[in-house]
Amino acid sequence: MKVVVLVGDGMGDYPVPSLGNRTILQAARIPHMRRLAAAGTIVRLQTVPPELPPGSDVANLSLLGYDPSAHYSGRAPIEAAGAGIPLGPRDVAYRCNLVTVANGAMKDYSAGHIETAEAHELIAAVQKALGRPGLSFWGGVSYRHLLIWEDGPGDLLTQPPHEIADQPLDPHLPQGFRHDEVRRLMDESREILRNHPVNQARIAAGKNPATQIWLWGQGRALRLPPYQEKFNRTGIVVSAVDLVRGLGILAGLRAPSIPGATGFLDTNCENKVAAALDALRDDSFAYVHFEAPDECGHMGRADLKVQAVEMFDERIVAPIWRALDSRGEPYRIILAMDHRTPVSKKGHTREPVPAAVLDGPVGNVTTMADFDEFAGETFPIRIAHEWMAEHIQC
Ligand SMILES: [Zn+2]
Repeated sequence: MKVVVLVGDGMGDYPVPSLGNRTILQAARIPHMRRLAAAGTIVRLQTVPPELPPGSDVANLSLLGYDPSAHYSGRAPIEAAGAGIPLGPRDVAYRCNLVTVANGAMKDYSAGHIETAEAHELIAAVQKALGRPGLSFWGGVSYRHLLIWEDGPGDLLTQPPHEIADQPLDPHLPQGFRHDEVRRLMDESREILRNHPVNQARIAAGKNPATQIWLWGQGRALRLPPYQEKFNRTGIVVSAVDLVRGLGILAGLRAPSIPGATGFLDTNCENKVAAALDALRDDSFAYVHFEAPDECGHMGRADLKVQAVEMFDERIVAPIWRALDSRGEPYRIILAMDHRTPVSKKGHTREPVPAAVLDGPVGNVTTMADFDEFAGETFPIRIAHEWMAEHIQC
């Protein structure tokens, strides 16, 4: 049986006053997800163990069927794997955001979702000034970059910048053993970026400049038991973001970069769908991740998040379901989200999230069921990695 997992990142939410106290999933036009829920089974999943932060790394690890409590070592090592950067045993990987700080507060964790080409110019300038043997900056996608630091400080507390939107920086600066070294790099980046032509052009165009780097999510290399051994499956992870592609690579799955996949509303859904459907001809597993709802949640934009969720329904869920059903072979679709990113919080929360599982072919489904944060409320909450492992194995 072919198994495909469809993940709308951060789709879960709370009731939103501007939507008549409905959640995003309740307000959005999502007929395919509702049909899938009607023809399948709904569950509620606890994707984040109590002792870990409710990040996409931890939650996607759960949705891939791995216990985060046993494996998780930090976000940046996963992204390094996604970017194809090898980590040595002494390396500590840091996530390096380009951010906009104004009046001492975190104005924008993404520097206006800076374009990748511009970001690479800025990261190259930072590397030139601050890089040295054993400490190097690597340009990633948009605002998401990496620092690999041999024998760098690993045991300290750092804050995800998307979790401190509009808050003053000072209480959220790195704390713990050797924190001064990490803070110094962040401070020094300000001078390097201040008058950079890329930033001058962004300001002139009314866009947020990248005023500094923000380092967080550090950790050492992560090892996962490969999918082939754990689930006797081969397959693909389809995602725009290095974090999720990194998890796929660490799991022994393929995770190619998809042309036009941006991780935002302008992403190329059709290329993502084609990559998944192609893989499912020979392989037995595909994990298709859609980042835009999470980004819109972090922006606090209910209107955009509705649009993102509708896009996921219409351009990811619908064509994949239709294609698998018309092939006539047995398949299982698991529709899920990694965590909630409530627009009112502009950050992640750790409450359980809904998921639905459908075994096909089922032909034409005309009935609809609710697929939202309150559906399946009477069912027990399942630990996500256990439930996923049961359903991926099949
Ligand atoms: Zn997420």
